[in-house]
Amino acid sequence: MKTLFSLRLLILFALGLPSSRGSISAAEHPGAWVEVRSPHFTVASNAGEKEARRIAAQFEAIRAAFRNAFPELRVDAGKPMSVLALADADSMKEFLPDFWAAKDGVRPAGLFLGSFDKNYAVLRLDANGTGENPFHSLYHEYTHAILRVNFRKLPLWLNEGLADYYGNAILEENGIELGRVSRAELGVLQHTPLIPVATLMKVDQGSPLYNENSPASLFYAESWGLVHFLLTDPEAAKNKLLAKYFKLFEETDDAEEAGHQAFGDLKNLEERLQRYARQPNFRGDLLKSKASLSDKNLAARKLSRAEGLTLRADFLQHSGHSREARPLLKEALELEPKLAAAHACAGYDDYLTLDLDGSEKEFSEATKLDPSDFRAFFYLAEIAYLRKGYTAQNTLQVIAHLEKTAQLNPDFAPAYGFLSLAYLQRSDTRFKALDAALKANWLEPTGLAYVADTGNAYMMLGRKEEAHAVSTRLDKAAITPQERYTAREFARRLARHEEFAAKKQAQALESGGVAIMEEETPPDSPHLQPASGPEFLAGAQLAAAVEIKTAEGEVEEAECEDSRSVRMKFAAPEGTLLLAAPDAAKITYWGKRQDSMSAADGCSQWKGRKASVIYKVVPAEGKPGEILSIEFFR
Ligand SMILES: [Zn+2]
Repeated sequence: MKTLFSLRLLILFALGLPSSRGSISAAEHPGAWVEVRSPHFTVASNAGEKEARRIAAQFEAIRAAFRNAFPELRVDAGKPMSVLALADADSMKEFLPDFWAAKDGVRPAGLFLGSFDKNYAVLRLDANGTGENPFHSLYHEYTHAILRVNFRKLPLWLNEGLADYYGNAILEENGIELGRVSRAELGVLQHTPLIPVATLMKVDQGSPLYNENSPASLFYAESWGLVHFLLTDPEAAKNKLLAKYFKLFEETDDAEEAGHQAFGDLKNLEERLQRYARQPNFRGDLLKSKASLSDKNLAARKLSRAEGLTLRADFLQHSGHSREARPLLKEALELEPKLAAAHACAGYDDYLTLDLDGSEKEFSEATKLDPSDFRAFFYLAEIAYLRKGYTAQNTLQVIAHLEKTAQLNPDFAPAYGFLSLAYLQRSDTRFKALDAALKANWLEPTGLAYVADTGNAYMMLGRKEEAHAVSTRLDKAAITPQERYTAREFARRLARHEEFAAKKQAQALESGGVAIMEEETPPDSPHLQPASGPEFLAGAQLAAAVEIKTAEGEVEEAECEDSRSVRMKFAAPEGTLLLAAPDAAKITYWGKRQDSMSAADGCSQWKGRKASVIYKVVPAEGKPGEILSIEFFR
């Protein structure tokens, strides 16, 4: 599900005929970039200012539609949303080289790419005007991104149903059309016996009914149909059935029970849904929502050539193509040595290769040139932590960078998660840790690592019962290997902490009431969200003496010793390396494609694959190096 920096690279296919929209101005000024800023989006386009304005207005419209439908939801993801409105296939190719690597590979018309510090929407303007919506997948994923910042958990049917409902949104010149029927899904619904609604509501990621690779499945169709019914059937809409369900699910944490309470007899609901889908002239209700924003008011500016290069380099870095980004950055900095964004990208590149000196230099330069870049301050905090850990003085530095990050972007959850741990390290800041962890949690309720952060705070503040409640909650909620690891680690830490507290108390009794043991060290690593951000480096707890190396090469042999540990021979230019990891689930998998994450499930598939590995050198003779992260190239 989540791969490199939690990239969600969802492809969609250009189905229809390209229209000429957008290509005229691009042809007039080949390669020229223009940037339009609307209140919530930044649109960069090489198809001219008019197109950039139109797309900005459309994105504001889809955001406004969410806002209207769910006034109580947050509709921004806490990180910048950068929209790339590309003129045609040729410019798409420059951003997404992977899709053009194979001669007859699928060529996306648009995609949503969510990453640790930034989200991207990429669309091809000449792919408009097709029968079924060419941007379905883009809106579908955008919907997930919004739901993710609002709900700790949603039943899968509701999550996918809403994403498909909004995935079918059609953006028009100056508004948005919702409720468009997907012919493919309607076809499935009309010609297949339905999944019993009670069963549908209980489907989770492990269920055979749910298959991410088969969006045309009955599960998706029925989930979409049910959401469509609940939102657009006049009676269902009048009774606010969907809102009721949301609320009841929050209360009961039981998808089926909430269904019973909100909808009554589920068998009955199924029959209504069946009838609804088989209406001869099924149209649903088309909701028209006009964009309140006039695109003429949006600020626009031409980007310099260096800025255009940086734009592409930044995207390439975020999509696993750091190497391809390097020459672009070099050229950009030669053209404009004072370009803040290019320095930030260069700093990020150094950071990924663990060149901390280079990275610090570039990010410092970036903050000098553009003091409003929250990302640069966040990485400066990471670098400070990686260098010296939580020494008394260094912790203050880490905190200062993070507080600056939070000041610049008050909705950036990772800053608060990291802050909560940094605050815990010092007795004079400890009291602030819980608030920071709760804030991270509120901003990104699906991130279990932030739940663990609240647990750490409760633990260190001596709030035992709440710490145990967190442990129980983590245990219950953990699904992915990373989440299970987070839950296990927290439980272990809590047990150690309590053991320590008991000893301390016993000693205090023995010595007449004076505790003489030293204070236990607070939790140490930022542990933001394992495998969803570069913070794995911090998670690796670098001590000064530890040597971290990067190697590129091919997996010669891989042995999965039991279900968890892994050993491999890795052929690199410097020779064959022996590498191992005690728990494959703890390795951070980077990759451009969804398949990279599945590597976590079985190292039996690794053999013969080209990869880049970051590993910790183990000084003892003959001992394998410890794998910290792997990026598979194919
Ligand atoms: Zn989905």
